[in-house]
Amino acid sequence: MDPALVDQKVHTLNNKIAPKIDCTACGNCCKTLLINVNEKEADALSEHLDQTREIFDNNYLEKGMNGALLINAVPCHFLKENKCTVYNYRFEGCKEFPAMHLPHFNKRLFTTFMHYNRCPIIFNIVEQLKIETQFVLEPKSETL
Ligand code: SF4
Ligand code: SF4
Repeated sequence: MDPALVDQKVHTLNNKIAPKIDCTACGNCCKTLLINVNEKEADALSEHLDQTREIFDNNYLEKGMNGALLINAVPCHFLKENKCTVYNYRFEGCKEFPAMHLPHFNKRLFTTFMHYNRCPIIFNIVEQLKIETQFVLEPKSETL
């Protein structure tokens, strides 16, 4: 199927399904994923929390293998009763997840399916997409 048509279908499904899912009843992304943070985001949130960067970094951050900054705990420190306590200062990755509004769905299948059983939005979009595209597994050819 034309990748642009797949994107169109995914975006339409996302607009229909995402508003029906209550993220505050789920929180699986905040509970189970490693969260990337950039310097600008760390500066903004540390200032909001009235902490120096040194204290903020000690409290909440670690460096990943490639040197990138990550939140040092899973679930995320800032999730309380399934709600983000720093919502206006949450990170780009938090805003973007589960990325069903982005283009090139067909190039993001690996990550999409990595989160398929974690995120009800992804699960429902993929299941509906299978119906709409009449997706069927090709039967294996018999070998003698
Ligand atoms: S995993 Fe999906 S449904 Fe659950 S809180 Fe995150 S974005 Fe919302
Ligand atoms: S900063 Fe907020 S939205 Fe992002 S992972 Fe933590 S609790 Fe979730």
